Amino acid sequence: MSQTQDTYRQPEDTNGSAAVPALALVGVERRYQESNRSLDILTGANLELRAGETVALVAPSGAGKSTLLHIAGLLDRPDGGEIYVGGQACGKLSDDARTRIRRLEIGFVYQFHHLLPEFTALENIAMPQMVRGLTKQEANARAMQLLKYMKLEARAAHRPSELSGGEQQRVAIARAVANAPRVLLADEPTGNLDPETAAYVFEALSGLVRASGVAALFATHNLDLAAKMDRRITLSKGQVVEM
Ligand code: ADP
Repeated sequence: MSQTQDTYRQPEDTNGSAAVPALALVGVERRYQESNRSLDILTGANLELRAGETVALVAPSGAGKSTLLHIAGLLDRPDGGEIYVGGQACGKLSDDARTRIRRLEIGFVYQFHHLLPEFTALENIAMPQMVRGLTKQEANARAMQLLKYMKLEARAAHRPSELSGGEQQRVAIARAVANAPRVLLADEPTGNLDPETAAYVFEALSGLVRASGVAALFATHNLDLAAKMDRRITLSKGQVVEM
């Protein structure tokens, strides 16, 4: 392990200190094996996200955005390098420990909302909190708060099929931040919305990010939205480059 990696090891300092990045990727490598060759997608990618920061990941299709997000979200393991969530190195942790960190510290928003169709908007937001150990009453109260923030309180009892695309995506965002994660990862969160709805959903998302102090990394093709974020990065030859 390199010196750089060791400097992130501050287990006593994992509770939101400004000194410790919410998320750090150090020298991350990922290659896929094709039949007769190796595809080098990440070749030593470095990235730091601070609490309350919004960062746009803008790169052409196939550049490795989803790969990077999956690795950052502990859904996939890199072939080299390390991922630190709140200063904690996650590479050598067991699958159970990684699942626990993912559940507590990381929120995801996808292009398609992945809400559970048979549950209401309120229940979709309350459920991850109950999995974490809150009572139904506590979870419902916070879910309602988030719905109000998203201006969706009148839709609390609606199922996803009874909501518009933009409303569904706002519910998905509320669900992603329901457990007050340290890091929010979004893969084209407004990709399937018309421009006006996308702008509205993005405003709601940014407001929530700033209010909650979560560190947010959004993959997007939308340059207007990217321009509104604190920083823009891209992937070039498997490395993260500031734009
Ligand atoms: P992006 O999100 O920027 O479109 P991806 O991270 O999805 O890019 O993919 C990067 C490259 O890696 C693409 O060429 C893709 O085909 C390839 N790839 C992604 N996942 C796999 C996999 N599981 N096996 C083989 N190749 C993959």
